[in-house]
Amino acid sequence: MDAFDLIVIGAGPGGYIAAERAGAMGKKVLIIEKEQLGGVCTNWGCIPTKSLLNSAKQYVHAQEADKFGVHIEKARFELSEAMEWKNEVVQTLRDGIQFLMKKNSVTVEFGEAEVTDAHHVKVNDTVYAGDCIMIAAGSSPAVPPIPGAEQKHVLTSKEILSIDAVPKKLAVIGGGVIGMEFASFFSSVGSEVHVVEMLDEILPLTDKEFAKLMRREMKQVKFHLGCRVEKIDEKQVHFTNKKGKAESIEADTVLMSVGRRPNVQGFENIGLDIDGGRIVVDERMRTNIPSIYAVGDVNGTSLLAHSASRMGEVAVANMFGDGDTMRYHAVPWAVYTQPEAAGCGLTEQDAEKEGRKVLTASMQMRANGRFLAEHGKRAGGLCKVVVDAETKVLLGVHLLGAVSSEMIYGAAAMIEAELRVKDIKEIIFPHPSVSEIIRDTIWELKE
Ligand code: FAD
Repeated sequence: MDAFDLIVIGAGPGGYIAAERAGAMGKKVLIIEKEQLGGVCTNWGCIPTKSLLNSAKQYVHAQEADKFGVHIEKARFELSEAMEWKNEVVQTLRDGIQFLMKKNSVTVEFGEAEVTDAHHVKVNDTVYAGDCIMIAAGSSPAVPPIPGAEQKHVLTSKEILSIDAVPKKLAVIGGGVIGMEFASFFSSVGSEVHVVEMLDEILPLTDKEFAKLMRREMKQVKFHLGCRVEKIDEKQVHFTNKKGKAESIEADTVLMSVGRRPNVQGFENIGLDIDGGRIVVDERMRTNIPSIYAVGDVNGTSLLAHSASRMGEVAVANMFGDGDTMRYHAVPWAVYTQPEAAGCGLTEQDAEKEGRKVLTASMQMRANGRFLAEHGKRAGGLCKVVVDAETKVLLGVHLLGAVSSEMIYGAAAMIEAELRVKDIKEIIFPHPSVSEIIRDTIWELKE
């Protein structure tokens, strides 16, 4: 029987980064994947959506170029070509992951893995032994039992990434990050888009002010908030609105984006602590079985690709290195809609809920020279900072407007380093850059 230092199950950003790190340490590593290297992130998540969203952005820019003195006649969007572009990007990244596995001497096996005990994994009728096992099996779209959800025109985020025509009327069920990105994409390329959300606001983890502003900026999308979908038929989505009244919207295509479910099947019969459908881990990514670790979406703590990768690194450091712990207070997130939004750390509402005393300040993006030069004075955008009222340590930064996703890592570094207002005021930002909005907002704080 082949024996390894580490067997990784799942080659998404949690699993393949962990395999790469352990391989680079000289460990004997096996990674098992049942579909494609790169997992959901590379194949059906982060990367394909951003490739398509970029095509939509180019199209919108072409249509709006007049205001910058550039005249483009008859800009046209071709979904098939945008899909080709997306597929090429995905394939290139997949090849890159394969190269990384080879470079770090990681053995790759394709097939569905099952953990048979604390040190053994079965795949394709072969059993492998591992000192450590890492479950990085990710998550799948949740499909609620709504009558009609099984119909062909009701798609998950995976299926909608390979449709061959732009829907005329698209209903997006769920106004979370995934739903909003598809709403942005399809509304930019010609679909009439309706978002039906059960809660009172979209993007539930965002600062409320930002979610509202985003809805206002995405003028072409129709939002139905506080509405519960009851039934989907061939042509319509039926829901009960906030006041308890029945309503319906027409839709030839429906995207079901109401959340994701950790992939725990294949790991349920070995005594692992699984609670609420997710594998329970501590801050070192250890499960209740000492040789088994679980990272990424499968442990349900932070369903983001960069969190998964960091968890993979933490787990490897605890298996073979100096040890490490996962911290969640400075995990940045971004929504790649038009306009983009991003955030890191505490929102004003979180602080209120926790009974924490904070100071906040906000600034309109249009006050920033680079933003104004590239988007104009009518473009909406906002920056808000949250600091501890007593210590003046930065606790949160929230952004809405172009390039927010590129700027937020700076805020993550400041929050992780527990910088105070005084420290941030001493940092020099490049001018003109949109990032200066963070520094300028810090100066707006009334200490
Ligand atoms: P995954 O990427 O899900 O990989 C798990 C892998 O394990 C899969 O390849 C699966 O086939 C394999 N597997 C499962 N069970 C087994 C088994 N028994 N045997 C062998 N292999 C198995 N996150 C961001 O941070 N930024 C974004 O912009 C972003 N956009 C997204 C857009 C969409 C449409 C979706 C759906 C998700 C998006 N996410 C984004 C979330 C991100 O994709 C996930 O958080 C991330 O992929 C989780 O990584 P992971 O390694 O835990 O699992």
